[in-house]
Amino acid sequence: MIFYSTNKKTTPTSLKKATLEGLATDGGLYVPSEIPGFSEEEIELLRDAPFNDIAFAVAKKFNDGEIPDGRLGEIVENCFTFATPLVGIEPHTYIEELFNGPTLAFKDYGARFLAHLTGYFAEEDHRLITILVATSGDTGSAVAYGFKGVPNTRVVLLYPSGKVSRLQEQQLTTVGGNVTALEIDGDFDDCQRLVKQAFMDAELKQKLALTSANSINISRLIPQSFYYAWGSLQLETRHPGKKAVFSVPSGNYGNLTGGVLAKMMGFPIDHLIAGSNVNDSVTRYLEEGRYEPHPTVETLSSAMDVGNPSNFARLRYFYRDDHRAMAADISGYSVSDAETLDTIRAVYDRFGYIMDPHTAVGFRALEKFRETNKPCDEPAAILSTAHPAKFIEAIKDALDMDITLPDRLQEVLDKQKISIPMSADYRDFSSFLSKF
Ligand SMILES: *Cc1c(COP(=O)(O)O)cnc(C)c1O
Repeated sequence: MIFYSTNKKTTPTSLKKATLEGLATDGGLYVPSEIPGFSEEEIELLRDAPFNDIAFAVAKKFNDGEIPDGRLGEIVENCFTFATPLVGIEPHTYIEELFNGPTLAFKDYGARFLAHLTGYFAEEDHRLITILVATSGDTGSAVAYGFKGVPNTRVVLLYPSGKVSRLQEQQLTTVGGNVTALEIDGDFDDCQRLVKQAFMDAELKQKLALTSANSINISRLIPQSFYYAWGSLQLETRHPGKKAVFSVPSGNYGNLTGGVLAKMMGFPIDHLIAGSNVNDSVTRYLEEGRYEPHPTVETLSSAMDVGNPSNFARLRYFYRDDHRAMAADISGYSVSDAETLDTIRAVYDRFGYIMDPHTAVGFRALEKFRETNKPCDEPAAILSTAHPAKFIEAIKDALDMDITLPDRLQEVLDKQKISIPMSADYRDFSSFLSKF
């Protein structure tokens, strides 16, 4: 498979180069030259297959021989060691729980696949690759746990001292092994500036084989189609003759773009719903056909506070910049914080199910879709992007109750924090890296 940049100014690129570069040199995002298709026979063979068989079948189409099948199969097995439950709460409504990975959020799917591919490519080149990540919290922990123990890779995380939650800090600073956490005396922008400066230092970049693992990497996008492929087949088995609707809590729109890939590949998906919080540039575009990004506003669903989502460039590319084609596949709804809290409450009262604020946005968006599109008897799944225990405060506000932390989170809180304090001066950072 060949990959191009959405800016169309770079030469065609291999999966390896696109993965190790992250962002294309012309500033665009990598996209596959074509979206591979699954024939009806191929889909029939996958119908009752386990998650990892479906993940492998999809990955194989994007890989197209660059990684031998046997190794790709091992990579998939090493990535998805946790379950993806599809929980029915009403006859036509399901929650697809994507929060059973090590950091209890859906970003584990993308981060783990990227980590294992990077490890494979590093081994092929007989190199040790260094991943530099600036984080304000959750992205960094998904990357840290993704790369944990992956041979031929090591991670340097930069986080702003005192500006991440205690749980996030513990998740960043207790992984150990090939993951080093730098506690920067500054804010998130300082962390990002330091990482950018290191990447511009050609000698350093070459010496350490620096790469970025950021959220727009094509190898984080591809695995985000696996759980749509799997989920749509599961729903079709439970509701013969029907195609699935997925409702997706969206911020940077990587998750939703994974759904677009699965639909275009031919999996039985009828429609996609994007639920945003008040950061609604894309949901408004879907409705009105005009894209006017706004400054970011803080909300309860903080991982979706993105004023100008990067993956919008990919969505435009896949729909050839045709608003009507995109709006035929995807409906967008924005959901306020008050509606989010109401939804957490209503879902708990009706079904006894506790959902985090991001998932609640997806749930409310599905309700809005059903209010405007009657009759709608397609089975629908809301993608649950985080475990509610990660957002204890919001749950307490909505339900006036404390929820217990899963053992895995409690263990992380009990561990000894190990970080290296550092100033926000680039000279300190570069001298650290040159001895690393
Ligand atoms: C990152 C994140 C999202 C948004 O996903 P995008 O791919 O950026 O749209 C939603 N919920 C949670 C919990 C997240 O961490």
